[in-house]
Amino acid sequence: MRKPIIAGNWKMNKTMNEALELVDEIKDETNKTDVEVVVCCPFTVISEVKKAIEGSKVKLGAQNMHWEDEGAFTGEISANMLKDLGVDYVIIGHSERRQYFGETDEVVNKKVIKAIEKGLKPIICVGETLNEREKNKTFDIVKRQTLTALEGVGKDGMNDVVIAYEPVWAIGTGKTASSQDANEVIAYIRFLLQNKYGIEVSERVRIQYGGSVKPSNATEIMNETDIDGALVGGASLKAEEFLGIVNF
Ligand code: PEP
Repeated sequence: MRKPIIAGNWKMNKTMNEALELVDEIKDETNKTDVEVVVCCPFTVISEVKKAIEGSKVKLGAQNMHWEDEGAFTGEISANMLKDLGVDYVIIGHSERRQYFGETDEVVNKKVIKAIEKGLKPIICVGETLNEREKNKTFDIVKRQTLTALEGVGKDGMNDVVIAYEPVWAIGTGKTASSQDANEVIAYIRFLLQNKYGIEVSERVRIQYGGSVKPSNATEIMNETDIDGALVGGASLKAEEFLGIVNF
């Protein structure tokens, strides 16, 4: 039985006070659920959010990292720095990183390998654009992104990997994939994992859906057989909405 995982991706939102107010509002309620809850904060608030969630079940996540250990990479943050702050999860290959910051499948792969090596749990994002969906390329794109991201990752490395299927056209647009369509793609990702790692691993790895998840559609999405959680952008910024999803 896979434990559902709901992760909030705050993106470039929340000053320190706003961040602390939000975690304060969600942490008690989170303690009552069996769902794993993660907040993926901006780097600037991670250390204080870490203190604020101490003693609660909320897990800490970052939204990006560099693949090198250290060096002349102005503006970047390393896996060691995230570990140092007590970060558990790190989002890798979010479509906004791919789209606006030129992250390729190969870069995503380097980051995934480094995150696993350092004991961070990567949430690897994959998903097709609208253009790709309209050309019936969804499965090809998801296959390429998933298998390239996992190149060189062995069975053991898969223990902590989470995959998020996020159709790009559904992110921040209010459009959601139908729960059946999302489940079909996620089942396909699981099939890819089975081919690469065997059934034991493919049945264990959690695969989330992301793209305009709200309290009103969370139950339907989470009831699908292969969907193990959600990566939530906009609705993770307000405690009431995020908790509405956590308590699907
Ligand atoms: C995301 O950024 O990962 C996301 C799914 O955003 P939203 O929920 O706003 O569509």
